[in-house]
Amino acid sequence: MCYSLVQPTPVRDAQLLAWNAALAQQLGFDALAPEVSCLQVLVGNAVAPGMRPYAARYGGHQFGNWAGQLGDGRAITLGELRLPDGSVRELQLKGAGQTPYSRFADGRAVLRSSLREYLCSEAMHALGVPTTRALSLLGTGEGVVRDMFYDGRPESEPGAIVCRVAPSFVRFGNFEIHAALQEHDPLRRLLEWVIRHHFPQFAPGAADVADSRRYADWFREVCERTAVMVAHWMRVGFVHGVMNTDNMSVLGLTIDYGPYGWLEGYEPGWTPNTTDASGRRYCYGNQPQIALWNLARLASALMPLVEDKAALQDGLEHYRATFAAQHQRLFAAKLGLPSLDRPEDEALLADLLRLLQVAETDMTLFFRALGNLDGRAAVALASYSPDALDAQQAAQWDAWFARYAQRAAEEGEAPEVRRERMNAHNPIYVPRNYLAQQAIDAATQGDLDPLHALLRVLERPYTEQAGCEAFAAKRPEWARHKPGCSALSCSS
Ligand code: AMP
Ligand code: MG
Repeated sequence: MCYSLVQPTPVRDAQLLAWNAALAQQLGFDALAPEVSCLQVLVGNAVAPGMRPYAARYGGHQFGNWAGQLGDGRAITLGELRLPDGSVRELQLKGAGQTPYSRFADGRAVLRSSLREYLCSEAMHALGVPTTRALSLLGTGEGVVRDMFYDGRPESEPGAIVCRVAPSFVRFGNFEIHAALQEHDPLRRLLEWVIRHHFPQFAPGAADVADSRRYADWFREVCERTAVMVAHWMRVGFVHGVMNTDNMSVLGLTIDYGPYGWLEGYEPGWTPNTTDASGRRYCYGNQPQIALWNLARLASALMPLVEDKAALQDGLEHYRATFAAQHQRLFAAKLGLPSLDRPEDEALLADLLRLLQVAETDMTLFFRALGNLDGRAAVALASYSPDALDAQQAAQWDAWFARYAQRAAEEGEAPEVRRERMNAHNPIYVPRNYLAQQAIDAATQGDLDPLHALLRVLERPYTEQAGCEAFAAKRPEWARHKPGCSALSCSS
């Protein structure tokens, strides 16, 4: 009731497009050159001894509505590896063919979406954001038909498969499906399995946890991890784009990279997902609230197992408090301050974010520049419409910089200390939407160099790298409305 055994569907060809040597080494693979037999497994043409592939069953709330059973329609878990430190990593192919949960879809994934998943999950890891990882990206040598703009013009695109890696891919939706269908025994067994394997601190008899509290305490931990994850999303300007409950990990990892995007001009209402353009449910500024809503759906799913319903409510409160504290801590660091806990600090940050929005200021460039440049120079460097600043706005900026300088001076820290703190929290390089699209366009033509150059620079996102200026530039104007660079559909 929790999963179905299923074999990957073989493909015509296995063409290695990207290989994560560092992760491979951690997993105990021959890091530099995967053998042919390994590639055959990673593209779904073979199953290694000991693997027992399966697709997981889950449901989910999509765009606020219960969508019923979904499940891994194109993701197939090959198995788990136990690492020398005793921890476990699940290897999962995305796009490896149909499963019992594919419904009417083909079980495949196109190169552009698989490349985006590989690129962004590794960028997030290097940025210090909790995430699933990517081990390999393989072309399948087969075409996959997609109607990219949902406008009745389907085309054949190259297919590709990512091998994703995480301790587990269990989602809120894995619990929701059992609760919705009143499958209480599988619901309990799934939770016990997740606890035993991934949250041993809440296992039966674990020190400090009363048996009656184990489930509620586990839920509280999920709330905490989710809060930390979303606070990091806000810090780096990441917009997930499809925060349905089937895309929320109980481990607090960013999962399912689809029509995600990165803020360029700071705009809380921005969503990269064209399907979400009218409602903007999943826009940047809504993400903290939506995560809470999703956690409330998980709490509902746990209701049959938990006597003390108020304890679940406490978990949600814990989310609010943790998110607020983390957000404050991370944005203090972005400003180079040890904390933002003075009465006037809330307005200091809120006023800055409002000014950034008015001046259509690149979030990444601005915060990085703030540590090194005079106030107005940072705005000029990062704004997409610097000439549009009128005299009143310029005066508001000057007033804000004066307050900020005063606030920083009151800490009595050396400027280098402040700058170091800022540089550790304000990346120079993020996988800007148009950079990803350029890598996709080249890879589609058979040129993988742009992808590999981008992956290389994103390995050290906080470190200025010689010759990499183009990766830290403002988005060019041509990319403002270009598909793939500013707006993405769910077609993948
Ligand atoms: P997503 O919006 O990508 O998280 O997917 C939502 C649901 O649709 C999940 O159950 C996916 O497994 C399923 N799905 C998406 N694309 C495909 C596909 N090409 N083939 C089969 N199932 C798919
Ligand atoms: Mg999904």
